Amino acid sequence: MIVSATEMLKKAKAGHYAVGQFNINNLEWTKAILLTAEEMKSPVILGVSEGAGKYMTGFKTVAAMVRAMDESLGITVPVALHLDHGTYEGAKTCIEAGFSSIMFDGSHYEIEENVAKTTELVKLAHDHGLSIEAEVGAIGGEEDGVIGAGECADPDECKRIADLGVDMLAAGIGNIHGIYPENWEGLSFETLDAIQQKTGEMPLVLHGGSGIPNEMIKKAITLGVSKVNVNTECQLVFAAATREYIEAGKDKQGKGYDPRKLLAPGTEAIKAEVKAKIELFGSANKA
Ligand SMILES: [Zn+2]
Repeated sequence: MIVSATEMLKKAKAGHYAVGQFNINNLEWTKAILLTAEEMKSPVILGVSEGAGKYMTGFKTVAAMVRAMDESLGITVPVALHLDHGTYEGAKTCIEAGFSSIMFDGSHYEIEENVAKTTELVKLAHDHGLSIEAEVGAIGGEEDGVIGAGECADPDECKRIADLGVDMLAAGIGNIHGIYPENWEGLSFETLDAIQQKTGEMPLVLHGGSGIPNEMIKKAITLGVSKVNVNTECQLVFAAATREYIEAGKDKQGKGYDPRKLLAPGTEAIKAEVKAKIELFGSANKA
């Protein structure tokens, strides 16, 4: 059932668990995540980056595929189709394309411009029944070439953006995208706590959820994180399972080259990964 992320995140915040956002890249990814969420009776968020949207030939294609698949698989758990790190233009395109949720990442703008653009998109998203995520304090990692420590957001700026009526707020607390370097200093729980104290009921979003130790994720959830984004881990397990299949020569046995066979181990690996994350985040049986 495709819905906005508003209700599922309010419930998560109140119930002290988090909903996973798993990014999709193609049909196999989408199918694996939807089937696992249904099996676990967990709400779920499908994240689509602008790059992945382009790869899948556009946001309209993505929305059509996800909506049709949700129906044909008979998915009953709440599913949000969410734009990840949207630009101003990308956010508008997704609202028209049939997404149920968007993220506007204005963290690279000065705070005044972030406020102005977020304000406009909050109205547009809500007029169309979508939920919206905003971001304060850039999240480091491969996306902007910063490797080492992630930024920490200013709690007062978080409060300002939260008050614009967004449904969820991403704030940098030392987290980064991609694979964490060995010298990573860990999450700043001090920053997270200060942000939660200022923003109250606002569901907070932890980006770069791949590679953060489980204990840190659990602690972050106790401090108000209600959505955790996972992308890299699914890519790594998919690649490893596919590599194993090919290195074992299975693509050369019988019709092992059939893409439905070739991509099956990777798809199963994504399912196992998503299942483990849903258990860690505590969202099983919360649909
Ligand atoms: Zn992110």
